[in-house]
Amino acid sequence: MEIYVSGSRSSRRGEPEYFTGSVWREEIITAPAPARVRSGFARFEPRARTAWHTHPLGQTLCVLSGVGRVQSWGEKAREVRAGDVIWIPPGEKHWHGASPNHTMVYIATQEDLDGVHVRWMEHVSEAQYLSPISL
Ligand code: MN
Repeated sequence: MEIYVSGSRSSRRGEPEYFTGSVWREEIITAPAPARVRSGFARFEPRARTAWHTHPLGQTLCVLSGVGRVQSWGEKAREVRAGDVIWIPPGEKHWHGASPNHTMVYIATQEDLDGVHVRWMEHVSEAQYLSPISL
């Protein structure tokens, strides 16, 4: 057993290549092989979001606090709130982030396939981010 005590691993800024706005990320686990699960916290300021991307084996998001948005390519964005759990299927192009006026924190969990857990694409434009959401 290994215990990673609180504060022993630094928070990291979301890289500007992959995120818009201020995002802080904290690792929960990158499990050693043969396990392949990875999970972490992500904390988004209002309007902050990921770029469009896919996960080869899908992703689960559990919203811990605040109000956020998630969108799959070709669909309207949807609002999500603390307690909501989102499953994103393998290969589905999507983004996730905070709502325009509120922060959002989630735990993201995904698995590696041949060492890859995410494939990054273009940023989410302002027009895409501000387009009407599905109610
Ligand atoms: Mn994702």
